[in-house]
Amino acid sequence: MPELPEVETVARGLATVLPGRRIAAVRLGKTDFISDPAVLQASLPGCQIAAVRRYGKFLLFDLLPSNGAGRSGTLLVHLGMTGQLVVQPAAAPVAPHTHALLTLDDGRQLRYTDVRRFGRLALVSAEDLRASLAALGPDPLELSAAEFCTRLGRRRARIKSVLLDQRTLRGLGNIYVDESLWRAQIHPTEQAARLGPARLKRLYRAIRHILREAIRWRGSSIANYRDAAGAPGGYQQRHCVYGREGKPCLRCRAKIRRVLVAGRSSHYCPRCQRIPRRRQKAPSAVSRLAH
Ligand SMILES: [Zn+2]
Repeated sequence: MPELPEVETVARGLATVLPGRRIAAVRLGKTDFISDPAVLQASLPGCQIAAVRRYGKFLLFDLLPSNGAGRSGTLLVHLGMTGQLVVQPAAAPVAPHTHALLTLDDGRQLRYTDVRRFGRLALVSAEDLRASLAALGPDPLELSAAEFCTRLGRRRARIKSVLLDQRTLRGLGNIYVDESLWRAQIHPTEQAARLGPARLKRLYRAIRHILREAIRWRGSSIANYRDAAGAPGGYQQRHCVYGREGKPCLRCRAKIRRVLVAGRSSHYCPRCQRIPRRRQKAPSAVSRLAH
């Protein structure tokens, strides 16, 4: 499933080709994942794409009316599990499961392909956009270490679920949470509030390092992820723990394990990512006598 680095890679790719282009025509396939397809079909033609940006795992296309057609608003896209957005010449063969084709004024097409259709497409007003995104937490690449420690330090849930919760931080998913926890040597089931400032800071640095590296390698292609030019990412070859169950830890050679945390598969090293032993209560006089 595309996470922050993959969506950032797609956004950067599209931002080099789309701004300034006008949408000439729209063709839709299956529309069960599109909010109000009729509005999309009626309002997109004529719109000029002013900017492409990422917000958490969302792609946002800011639109302006041009030549008296189209309307201002934002096309909001979530790639779900298997969504792909690629710019291709209109004459290129259309891949199976392509459900939206936006023909641009330069003859190319922006194509949305999604095998499983867990993605989302919606044309929203500025007001609706604010409402849709209001619940999302800060971007891990934009917040300070102090803010990170405050936000996470008061949460009693397990650190893995806290990091996956988009209301705490936006953009992280299973792959980069596992990689970050391994790098910071923190067990996925440990309670966030028990980590303390030193380990929270280590986690903060780990998350930002992993995300920046993953963006540099243009994301991870596990299943269908492709960048805006249709090319796979390269970071999957650099995973230290995700998808490496049973293989030796790259730090200590112990076998990587997989457990379910919050319903998600979590990969960790049982030696590097130990839960610190809880402080034991002093044995009572009776139990001391019993030994
Ligand atoms: Zn290890």
